[in-house]
Amino acid sequence: MSDKREPYIECEDLFKIYKRADLEVVALRGVDLNVSAGAFLSIVGASGCGKSTLLNILAGLEVPSAGQARVGRRDLLNMSERDRVQYRRHEVGFLLQSTSRNLFPYLTALENIELPMAIAGERAFQRRGRALELLSVLGLVQQAKRLPHQLSGGEQQRVATGVALANRPGLLLADEPTGELDTGTANEVFQAMQDICRTYGVTVVVVTHYLGVGDFADRVVHMRDGRIVAESAREAPLQGSGETVQGEYVVVDRAGRLQLPVESLETLGPGGRVSVEVRNDGILIKPRVSDQ
Ligand code: ADP
Ligand code: MG
Repeated sequence: MSDKREPYIECEDLFKIYKRADLEVVALRGVDLNVSAGAFLSIVGASGCGKSTLLNILAGLEVPSAGQARVGRRDLLNMSERDRVQYRRHEVGFLLQSTSRNLFPYLTALENIELPMAIAGERAFQRRGRALELLSVLGLVQQAKRLPHQLSGGEQQRVATGVALANRPGLLLADEPTGELDTGTANEVFQAMQDICRTYGVTVVVVTHYLGVGDFADRVVHMRDGRIVAESAREAPLQGSGETVQGEYVVVDRAGRLQLPVESLETLGPGGRVSVEVRNDGILIKPRVSDQ
């Protein structure tokens, strides 16, 4: 039925409008995003640009206003409330920014990871086995018996990643998981997420302010004002060729709208001076050489 090459996450012209009294806030204005199964994607952008809104939609916590959003075989716009609950419970693991809110303070690291499995009715020896395996992938075997307050912030977020992964979701979502951590510790958390992504084939989507995430994520998409405006990748295949490219690209969305990276906007955008040349192989836009 479903094509294997189909992206695991597919958003098309996605809109989210918050209505409060007589005020409307357009938080997402036409987001197009495809993510393959097992990829590690990071979303960056200034505060208020819509990152959490997009993540909450993917988590099934918010319902989009218009457009399309699909994760696996689930249509996030046309889902019954019951399916939405099932989706959140089985398909998604969610990690919050606040390290303390992700864990129960009076349970050890091991018990915290076992808890969601206990709630789901998994048997004791299976819970223990799965929790120990996750702790091992996360590099936390030594910390298994410690309580959250006996762990560093980075260790707490790694345990929380184990909690989010306990019931084998296909999708791991994290909203600024290292917002309270320093750079070195942030690297530790993203490294653990990358290990989880590679070991279990989980698709990971992380919202972050930390630009160093580019060392761990396969793709970094940049949001501005409710849209995805640019993308950078460590190594992305150039379509139709065996070549790979690095760095930031401009994005042409499905409606043909062209989004410039922020740096290019200064020279090519409104107020900038550009020359446009239509050629056989495409359209060339470049800074205009001053004609004085
Ligand atoms: P980010 O996570 O990138 O900081 P958000 O997705 O939280 O941005 O917010 C995007 C925009 O939507 C902001 O203008 C924000 O004020 C608005 N917004 C977010 N959540 C709500 C809400 N529940 N009600 C009204 N406006 C909201
Ligand atoms: Mg946010």
